[in-house]
Parts: sequence; structure tokens; C-alpha cells
Amino acid sequence: MSIPKINTLKIDGSTGEGGGQIIRTALSLSMLTGIPIEITHIRAGRAKSGLMRQHLVCLQASQQISDAKVTGAHLGSTAFSFTPNAVKAGNYQFDIGSAGSTTLVLQTLLPALLFANSDSSAKSTVTIKGGTHNPLAPTTDFLTQAFLPALAKLGMQVDIQLLQAGFAPVGGGVITATISPFMRRADTAAFELTERDKLLHIELSASILNLDYDICTRELASSKAALIEAGIYDGLITTQSNKLQGVGEGNSCYAIVTHQLKNTPTTTDAQAGQPTYPDLQYQQSHNLHHEVFTLLGEKRTSAEKMGKRLAGLVKRYLSTSEALVDEHLTDQLLLPLALAGGGEFSARVISQHTETQAWLIEQFLPVKITFETSADNQILVQVIC
Ligand code: ATP
Repeated sequence: MSIPKINTLKIDGSTGEGGGQIIRTALSLSMLTGIPIEITHIRAGRAKSGLMRQHLVCLQASQQISDAKVTGAHLGSTAFSFTPNAVKAGNYQFDIGSAGSTTLVLQTLLPALLFANSDSSAKSTVTIKGGTHNPLAPTTDFLTQAFLPALAKLGMQVDIQLLQAGFAPVGGGVITATISPFMRRADTAAFELTERDKLLHIELSASILNLDYDICTRELASSKAALIEAGIYDGLITTQSNKLQGVGEGNSCYAIVTHQLKNTPTTTDAQAGQPTYPDLQYQQSHNLHHEVFTLLGEKRTSAEKMGKRLAGLVKRYLSTSEALVDEHLTDQLLLPLALAGGGEFSARVISQHTETQAWLIEQFLPVKITFETSADNQILVQVIC
């Protein structure tokens, strides 16, 4: 008996956002479903279209983990085809060969490796060399502090270690991810991240790579002062500085904003009804939501200005709506949710990225993704399987 042939899905890469995300998500979904793809007009929405190093490595790495047949895999290519075989869990190493984003390569492979093999002991490890702190991409801090905790709520277990930091233009960063096979348990609670309760904690963090440590101190002081000036109780704010290891130079600062979720047990009130940081140690992570805002240091921008900008991102999130999930985590959550039985969350904003992502997921999977704006400036995102 011959196996029925699966029709190739043709994807116009200029749709919606017309950027790199279409390629990465299409590769992930092709590997997960076995549907062969042909993508044309790659990154037509960008000033320099075609495959850049990071996108090419996404394609080559996907080819390697799924033993795929590929055409059009070269730098600058504006079209490729990809026909996957079964995805194999294993130990993989990839080198982007530039400061291109390691986290975006990892996000391409992650869904397929989560579902690889039914043998529950078959963990995968993926080591990727390139940039770890890139503009317009999640930093490793964003992945470990916001993306992975959200995946954990779905029962997906992934660990990421930053072995060496890499900033543009030098790169040279290294991350290693350990991915456990995902098996959805029948008793897993529905994914629901809809209502904020108390603001529990704001952690401000600043890191330098081969630059003056004082930059961190100044960024953190200016950020904290701006938040306190905006009326945030200072007992909720903690700060920490890090010296990163690696070649080249760089600076990054980020804020982790933690809310209690509604209808979960509350913490001990410490002062004027405000819980303090140590109380958080006793919280179960499924009761919390962590939203992360990151900035990369720029030449000719003072540490004080960076700190103020970071505080500005936090203030915008806290004051413009009651939504739990901010712009970037919104587009990154859609695929994991579509693979784990669906769910819903409140979003502050729906970017063109998110709309394109929803459109593409619906091309491959029998899911419906809806966005419904409510009167109080938030959007209910539902992934219905
Ligand atoms: P292109 O060069 O074509 O724009 P790209 O491959 O660099 O493509 P995008 O298609 O722009 O990438 O996708 C970038 C991804 O990075 C999106 O998922 C977006 O949410 C995420 N991202 C961008 N900025 C941040 C940030 N500050 N924090 C977290 N995630 C981010």
C-alpha cells in the first residue's frame, strides 16, 4: 500500500509583516505536521530581502534535525522548498557565523524537538553560537525569564543556559538548550492568563560585557528612581548587576514585572497591603505572570537615559491597560498554545507580527485564533483547537 502524498503548502513570504518570522514559523510547522513547503518572496517586506545568515541557519538546522530535502538554501535566496522527514531528538550544534540571533534559531527548532520521538527519555540538547543579545529579537534573558515560564505553564520543559554572551557586531555568544519531550497530560489545566491581580515585584537587571561596571549601577539607579517617581512602592523593586563573559562588548538592561494572577492564593501583605520580594519565594510559578522588557545599550546614549527608557516601558505596560501579556510574548505564545490544546490570554497590543503569525498557524493546523478588543484597552486572544 502506498503512503498518500501530502500536498505542498505554498507560502508567499511577503504576506503581512513580510519578515523573518514567516520563515521560522513555517519551518517549525512543516516539521511538526510533515507538510512540505515552498516559500517565495522571502522577507520582501524588509529593506534587504532574502535569507540572511540567521534565517539560513534556521533552514539548515531544520534540515538537519528532520533530515529534510531542501532547495534554495543559500544567502540572499528569495525562495526555498523544504520537505521534512521525521524529527530526531539528539544533541545538535549550530554556528550562525555572525552575530545573528541564537534565540530565533532556537525558537525555530524548539516546537519540533518538543514533539520529537515518543520515548519520554529522549531529551535533546541544542548548542548555538552567534548573538545572544540582539536588537529586534528576544534576548536570552527574555527567553529564560518570560518565554520559558509561560511554556512551563503549558507543561513544556525547556532549560536554556547562557554560556557566553554575544552582542553585535562581534557575536561569539553561545547558548545551550535542553528540551524534554512534551506529553500533554489529560489533567493539565486550561491555559488562562487573563486577569492581573497584585503587582508583586519588579526586578531591574543590568549587564555589561567587557565594559565599565559603573554603567549597570547608573542604569539601575535611574530606572528605579523613575519608577518610584511614577508612584511605584520601592519595596517592590529589586536591582541586580551582572558581568557577562564573552568576546566583544555590550550592555543590556531589563525589567521583570511579576503579577499575581487573579483567583490564586495571595501573599502576605508586608506594608500598606503590598507584598515584598521574599514572599515570592513561596509562590508557585503557575500563580504568577512574568513580563520582561529589554533594552540594549547604544553608543552615544547615556546609562541614565537607558534606565529612564526601561522605566518607560514598564510604566506603559502598567498604566495603559490591565492586560497581562505585552507585545512580544503575544506573538511568541501563539504557536506553543496551538500545539498544547489552546487557551486564552489578555494582550496589551496586537502587532502585525502577531496577526501574520496567527494567519500562518491557521494555514497548517485546525485551529482558530481570535482577537477581541474590550472596553478597558486590552485584547482577549483566544487559540481555539
Ligand atoms: P527580519 O530581519 O526579517 O525582521 P527577523 O528574522 O530578525 O526578521 P522578525 O520577523 O522581526 O525577525 O521577528 C522577530 C521576533 O523577535 C518576534 O517574535 C518578536 O516578538 C521578537 N522580538 C523583537 N523585539 C523583541 C524584544 N525587545 N523582546 C522580546 N522579543 C522581541
